[in-house]
Amino acid sequence: LSTEQSQRDHIKELSRKHVFTSWSAQGALDQLPLAGGEGAHFWDHEGNRYLDLTSQLVNVNIGYQHPKLVAAIQEAAGQLVTIGPGFDSESRAEAARLVSERAPEGMNKVFFTNSGAEAVENAIRLARLHTGRHKLLAAYRSYHGATHGAISLTGEGRRLGSEPGLPGVVHFWGPYLYRSAFYASTEQEESERALEHLRQTLQFEGPDRVAAIILESVVGSNGILVPPAGYLEGVRALCDEHGIMLIADEVMAGFARTGQWFAIQHWDVRPDLITFAKGVNSGYVPLGGVVISDEISATFNERPYPGGLTYSGHALACASAAASINIMEEEGILEHVRQLDEQVLRPGLTALAEQHEVVGDVRGIGAFWAVELVADRETKEPLGAEAMGRIAAACKAEGVWPLIVANRVHVVPPCVITQDEARRALEVLGSALSSV
Ligand code: PLP
Repeated sequence: LSTEQSQRDHIKELSRKHVFTSWSAQGALDQLPLAGGEGAHFWDHEGNRYLDLTSQLVNVNIGYQHPKLVAAIQEAAGQLVTIGPGFDSESRAEAARLVSERAPEGMNKVFFTNSGAEAVENAIRLARLHTGRHKLLAAYRSYHGATHGAISLTGEGRRLGSEPGLPGVVHFWGPYLYRSAFYASTEQEESERALEHLRQTLQFEGPDRVAAIILESVVGSNGILVPPAGYLEGVRALCDEHGIMLIADEVMAGFARTGQWFAIQHWDVRPDLITFAKGVNSGYVPLGGVVISDEISATFNERPYPGGLTYSGHALACASAAASINIMEEEGILEHVRQLDEQVLRPGLTALAEQHEVVGDVRGIGAFWAVELVADRETKEPLGAEAMGRIAAACKAEGVWPLIVANRVHVVPPCVITQDEARRALEVLGSALSSV
């Protein structure tokens, strides 16, 4: 065995012995140990390099080991590295300023957490206390995190393992034209019928009991569902009619992923709360948070907010967020993502759909795309796990690491992927589709 192989085997053995892994049956795990990364690539201990279409869990927006971000973290580590929320800190103040300045008007405060799920927990608490109501509406096709409240809001199957969940949570169907819950055949119909369904759901739940509607501005894990024109505006109008808070969960969609700081900025909608994490500092140090409207934060001017975390506004994490936002700004990463969308991903993925019978639907925005695969275009029967596995293997054999979710390939590379790298990834994906 080479030293690289024995190092790989040693890491695997220790991991199986001592690491309890997320979402997995522990006995059947076979994971690749990673040794390094740069830009849109990572590599293993034997030097196999992969062009990454996953951004890990859709969080490494700025790419692997960005030299300026690594340097900023090193510098911050040499200063007061951790400060409790009971003292003010320069990096926390600066990160909060940079985040809130990029949010819609009138959202001037940030509560920092360590993760997306904790951001969602605190958004729920803020909305409930501000309105004095308890019910929460969330979409079936959603993922909001794995803590008690966040997994209760989550609509997809991962919720079921944690039931019974938080009382007062009600789920509804959001727009998804390709598999419309409303028998719609156009985007406009889908939007109107989804809004009517939400209106009726509110009516039957008692709108004056509903504290918040939470939705992902662009649905991520559940299929990259970009809302049709008018939908988010319609949800905002329903919220306004009934005094309900709108929570935009931007944990996955925020910070350049869609070509905006926050995905909701593609529409003319101001939410009351925005949850973020992942892309805020690409996960170089764990960090999440909630951007809070001036109205909601005013509720807690006299009355204490009954929530907190030892590491709320952690100095090192906040320094990395401030640096990351400045780097994204300096390097024009939002603009780069918009060009990637226009010039490579949108036309390239559309062409794949024309060339391959197995593609049922292609949808997305920015660097946030899904290719939905079907065994039959007429019936839309999802492509099976075995064929999906063959596609993944064919991509990996060519040095491209795809993100497979059910019958979909999510194309969510680091936002710094070059146009040439993205073209190469689509070529490899195209050949892999030919193999089924
Ligand atoms: N909300 C959304 C939309 C997410 O995609 C995720 C994670 O994928 C979360 C919340 C939970 O974030 P975390 O895993 O950091 O707790």
